[in-house]
Amino acid sequence: MKIAVIGTGYVGLVTGVALSEIGHTVICIDVDPEKVEKLSQGIPTIYEPGLKELIQKNINNGRLFFTSEHRRGLEGADVVYIAVGTPQRRDGSANLSYVEQAAVDIAANITRNVIVVIKSTVPVGTNFHIKELINRNTVNGVHVRIASNPEFLREGSAVHDTFHGDRIVIGTEDGETADILAEINKPFDMPILKTDISSAEMIKYSSNAFLATKISFINEIANLCESLGANVEEVAKGMGFDHRIGPDFLKAGIGYGGSCFPKDTNALVQLAGNADHEFNLLKSVIEVNNNQQLLLIDKILSRFGSVRGKRAAVLGLAFKPNTDDLRESPALVMIPKLVKLGADVIAYDPIAVSNAKKQFSVEIEYTEDLNEALQDADFAVIITDWADVKNIDLSAFAAAMRTPVVFDGRNCYSLDRVRKSEVEYYSIGRPSHTPELTK
Ligand code: NAD
Repeated sequence: MKIAVIGTGYVGLVTGVALSEIGHTVICIDVDPEKVEKLSQGIPTIYEPGLKELIQKNINNGRLFFTSEHRRGLEGADVVYIAVGTPQRRDGSANLSYVEQAAVDIAANITRNVIVVIKSTVPVGTNFHIKELINRNTVNGVHVRIASNPEFLREGSAVHDTFHGDRIVIGTEDGETADILAEINKPFDMPILKTDISSAEMIKYSSNAFLATKISFINEIANLCESLGANVEEVAKGMGFDHRIGPDFLKAGIGYGGSCFPKDTNALVQLAGNADHEFNLLKSVIEVNNNQQLLLIDKILSRFGSVRGKRAAVLGLAFKPNTDDLRESPALVMIPKLVKLGADVIAYDPIAVSNAKKQFSVEIEYTEDLNEALQDADFAVIITDWADVKNIDLSAFAAAMRTPVVFDGRNCYSLDRVRKSEVEYYSIGRPSHTPELTK
C-alpha cells in the first residue's frame, strides 16, 4: 500500500513511521519546510523514545519519505491519512480549519480515487463534512471514501503505544473500506473495532472525557483527604484493587494538561451543547482541573505569606515526563503566577527548555541541570514527575537549597522517604511533613 500522511506532529509522524515499519511505503507531508528538511535527514522534530531509530531505519530501507509539497506527497497514494492539529477555539470548540485545509489540499492534488482516513480528533459529523468538501473540489473527476480512525497514543510513549495499543477503531460507511483499513493495520496485531463513522468519532471524545473524569475525581478525593486527614494514595490503592475501577488514572496531582484532555473535554461540552445537552458532569471535571492547577500556589502562599524576592525552583515544564510538549502544562499557569507574585523563578526541564523559551513571555531562568535549579532556592515546586526528579536523593534538596521546602504537585515521594529526610514537604491529598530542624 502506498500511504500519504498529512501532518508530521506527534500523531502524524509516529503514525507514518509506524506504518512504514510494518511494511508500507509512506510519504509524510508537512507545510513546515524546516520540519521536512530535518526529518528527511533522519532528525526527529519531536522527542519520543524510540522514534529516531525507527525514522532512520525506514528512511534507509526506502519506505519512508518526507515532503512539503502536497502534489508530490499525494501522487499515487492509495490511502491518505489526515493527522493535522484540531486546537481549541476561544469558545472551547474544535478548530477544524487545518483539517479543512488538508481536505482542500487533497482535492487539488489527488489523481485517482483514494481512501481518506481522519486520524485527527474531530467532532461527530466532521468526517462527512470533509468527505463532502473533498468530493466537491476534486479536479480530476476522482472521488474519495472516508474513514474515521481516531488515535489513542500517549505522548511520551507514542511509539510503544502505536505498536502495543489496546485497540484500533475504524469507522466507515461500507464494509469494503473497513476491510482495506483492517488489512493495512493487521501487522499491529491489535483488536480492531469496525464501526460506523459517528461512533468512531465519539469513541475518541468519550475515552478522553472518561479518563479526565477519573483524574478529576481522584483529585477531588485528594482535596477531601487533606481536609479529613486521610492519605489519597492509600485510598487510590484500595479503590484500584476493585477490577471494576482499576488502578490506572487514580494518581492525584495538580491536574491533567497536554494537547488532548483539556481541548477534547471542552470540545465535547460544546458538541453536547450543540445537541441541546448540558454536559454538567464534564463541566465539573473541567472546573476541578482548572482549580487543581493552582492548588500549589495556595499552599505556597499559606506557607510563606509572600514569595516576593524568594527564589523558586520549578522542576519540570513539560505537561508530563518523556515529552518536550508544553501544551496546557500546569507550568504555563504556575510560572506566570509565581512571577506575578514577585518570585525569582528558575525552571528545570531535561528536554523541554527550548520549547518553553518560545512560550513564556515572563522573565525567568532556565536550566537542564537539576542541581543548578535547586542551588540556593527558597522552595521547589514539582510540576512534572521526571525520572531524575523522582529518583533524586532527598538529601540533595537540603544540600543545595537555602531552605529545603518542597511543594510536590505529582506526589513523587513516599511519605516514608520524606519522613527520613530534612525536607519540609507538601504534596497532594497527603499529610504534609515538617522535620524537627525547620520547626
Ligand atoms: P501537532 O500540532 O503536533 O502537528 C500538526 C502538524 O500538522 C504540524 O506539523 C503542522 O505543520 C502540520 N500541518 C497543518 N496543516 C497542514 C496541512 N494542510 N498540510 C500538511 N501539514 C499540515 O498535532 P498533534 O499533536 O500531532 O495532533 C494531531 C491530531 O491528533 C489532533 O487532532 C489531536 O487532537 C489528535 N491527537 C493527538 C494526540 C497527542 O498526544 N498529541 C493523541 C491522540 C490524538
